[in-house]
Amino acid sequence: MNLHSIGQFPACRPRRLRQSAALRQLVRETHLNAGQLILPLFVRSGRKVRRPIRAMPGVFQLSPDELVREAAHAYETGVPAVLLFGIPGHKDAKASGAYAADGIVQQAVRLLKKELPQLLVITDVCLCEYMEHGHCGMVRRDTAGAKILNDPTLKLLAQTAASHVEAGADMVAPSDMMDGRVRAIRERLDKLGFVETPILSYAAKFASAFYGPFREAAESAPRFGDRLSYQMDPANAAEALREVALDIQEGADIVMVKPALPCLDIVHRVKTEFGYPTAVYAVSAEHSMIKAAAVNGWIDERAVTLESLLAMRRAGADIIITYAAADAARWLKAG
Ligand SMILES: [Zn+2]
Repeated sequence: MNLHSIGQFPACRPRRLRQSAALRQLVRETHLNAGQLILPLFVRSGRKVRRPIRAMPGVFQLSPDELVREAAHAYETGVPAVLLFGIPGHKDAKASGAYAADGIVQQAVRLLKKELPQLLVITDVCLCEYMEHGHCGMVRRDTAGAKILNDPTLKLLAQTAASHVEAGADMVAPSDMMDGRVRAIRERLDKLGFVETPILSYAAKFASAFYGPFREAAESAPRFGDRLSYQMDPANAAEALREVALDIQEGADIVMVKPALPCLDIVHRVKTEFGYPTAVYAVSAEHSMIKAAAVNGWIDERAVTLESLLAMRRAGADIIITYAAADAARWLKAG
């Protein structure tokens, strides 16, 4: 578009098309609907457990029975999918809970697929919740410090993804940011005959301070060091495009940018550059900030939430992972 191709005042008056709700609806460029939302859920063992997460009002660690209730409620309001995170009873140095056949996520997947067969069940694939040190990969510690080992981690990630799919997961979502994990997972799934199971990769996942409240939710804070050697530097956009390109080459079906609002430029570039199904993850602090301001009466929670989600769509996101999925679906239905 160049400026000469549009009219000039007074012939051109953009306000003409803003005069009524009907006119505004006719020329609206971006639409948000519940079918584009995914609700993240945290599952832990037990019965009738709803443990509130202090820094994330309205979000809970749920036992499998409560998880089914929460997922059913979201599904009834129009949310088609959930993304599962597990909080295991036991952590060790090789994340064995991540790929155990009776691990907490595997149990939850089986129950969800039995009780709500139409619900799309996506599992987060990572090791941090299951590692005693809280890192997303295998760690070697020596006098020089700690190193996150890339290639030995791939096997465990592939094993974890396979165990989720064997339990009935409809899609797997690797979030670890190790190099080559999408290929490792794709190969393992194909070998087991799961050629139709899609991979949603956390392709451009930045080392963001906005993940703070999540670490309480998933009990996954690293015991030492940080995640800067695997998650991306928030300063880098060209590198984000390379990360996305690599994941697509390795077999990712949907690519994700995380976090959402601080990265809308990245979302736009990823969608424009690759034209692939693109997801964003509106992360814990994005949720917490809106909740905190709303509790204080400083903002209108509903309006700010829906405007934020719409902005993600306008930037190019096809799919939005958000803790507000069920609320947003309800608000959208109410009109
Ligand atoms: Zn992780």
